[in-house]
Amino acid sequence: MSIVDNIARVQDTIATACARANRDPSTVTLVAVSKTKPIEMVCEAVAAGVQHFGENRVEESQQKIPLVNQQLEHKPTWHMIGHIQSRKAKLIPPLFDVIHSIDSLKLARKLSQLAVEDGQRLDVLLEINISGEEAKYGFEASGWKMQAEIKDSLWKTVGELLVLPGLNICGLMTMAPYLAKAEATRPVFADLAELADTLSTAFAVELPHLSMGMTNDYPVAIEEGATIVRVGRAIFGERD
Ligand SMILES: *Cc1c(COP(=O)(O)O)cnc(C)c1O
Repeated sequence: MSIVDNIARVQDTIATACARANRDPSTVTLVAVSKTKPIEMVCEAVAAGVQHFGENRVEESQQKIPLVNQQLEHKPTWHMIGHIQSRKAKLIPPLFDVIHSIDSLKLARKLSQLAVEDGQRLDVLLEINISGEEAKYGFEASGWKMQAEIKDSLWKTVGELLVLPGLNICGLMTMAPYLAKAEATRPVFADLAELADTLSTAFAVELPHLSMGMTNDYPVAIEEGATIVRVGRAIFGERD
């Protein structure tokens, strides 16, 4: 299968999931996750109509993104989806348009400060560990509806994040646990959507974006309200 065919198939699957959920497909942005894949494949995806790409490693992005941008008349929109060490924060704003992986106050403060110094405001999402898996990055939110301690701590953190002057917090991001049946991830996505709604009301802010869903589970994520899906393998094939 070619990248062009793969993209057509993914877009078709997105449209079908939207139809099931009574949603307009234009409300779902496809981010093609190009990590580990060469520049040529990114350009092929651009030629097939993809405008958003996701990368997760700073070093790889420093190499790849400027080269891709140089080759194209209109540069694509770049999404940072991987963990960022605070000491590498300054490398991120020149490369990326959207940062999905704000996972600590320290990183958020650093990025905000850099943006303010530059007279900018960065579009970011808060990464949420909603499933409670220990290996996952993100603000701890597992059990937020039942456990006051988790909720209080999360609310306090979100309050501090929302006042950072250099960040435009546009929503939440999560990674569902890998489960053999995509359907089993549904409660995780529904929980993130409910959390976004609840935070939005509690803090009187708009949090319009939900970045959730990957190759294994993006149709289910769309049914539960994803506005951004991050799809790698279904477009570019398996990674080494
Ligand atoms: C790699 C990655 C993806 C894409 O995963 P696929 O299974 O290839 O679709 C999405 N989100 C994040 C955060 C990733 O690291």
